[in-house]
Amino acid sequence: MSYNISTMYIWKFFNENCVCPVCEIRKKMDADISEMYLSEAVMENEERKKVNKYGFCKDHYDLLYLGTNKLGLALQMQTRVKTIGALIKNYTDVKKAQKHAKAIQKRLETCVICNTLNFNMERYYETIARLYKDDEKFRNVTFKTIHGLCYGDYLNLINYAHKAGKYSAEFLATLHEKQTASTNDLIKQLNDFTMAFDYRAKTLPSKSASLSLKLTRVKVYGDKTNLPERK
Ligand SMILES: [Zn+2]
Ligand SMILES: [Zn+2]
Repeated sequence: MSYNISTMYIWKFFNENCVCPVCEIRKKMDADISEMYLSEAVMENEERKKVNKYGFCKDHYDLLYLGTNKLGLALQMQTRVKTIGALIKNYTDVKKAQKHAKAIQKRLETCVICNTLNFNMERYYETIARLYKDDEKFRNVTFKTIHGLCYGDYLNLINYAHKAGKYSAEFLATLHEKQTASTNDLIKQLNDFTMAFDYRAKTLPSKSASLSLKLTRVKVYGDKTNLPERK
């Protein structure tokens, strides 16, 4: 399945005051790709073959299950389960059985949606760094207004810093500055939250302090994807 890398989402989410704009891009793309696996498009032969071979990871299975096409999911899983079922063999030799178990384990760990998502996210990291190089407004205004990133995406962008060309060092410096400031903010919010439990505390946790655990979820582990609600 092809997916267009659009700078539109980069502009959109880097201008929103979120914990991690890259997570927002990923969530949007994840929801779009997952939706495709609930549409008629997945009944095409080429896609069916991919689903049979790679299947869905647990998170994507759960996401698809929450979607609106249970029949489509059942049809896809029917052939996927057959594929896995065909791998099961009876061994009397323990070593051979254990080697085969490892091979099946590997086959169970793949996911057709994660494959597409990861492939396209690599293109997004690169496009973000290139945009930083090529677009003065993105470099001097938009990128400077972000709050920070989750740690995973902070590292992902560092991996593509060379794509910012002559602005690579500046790109790294801004990333570092944003990440340090947002980390300090989060530490402060967690501190305020824990302090409110102190028996000497006279005030209830402030709203931002009680959000601190939610922010920590995104900062440390990245954000979760939800499928858009249907009317
Ligand atoms: Zn992120
Ligand atoms: Zn997956």
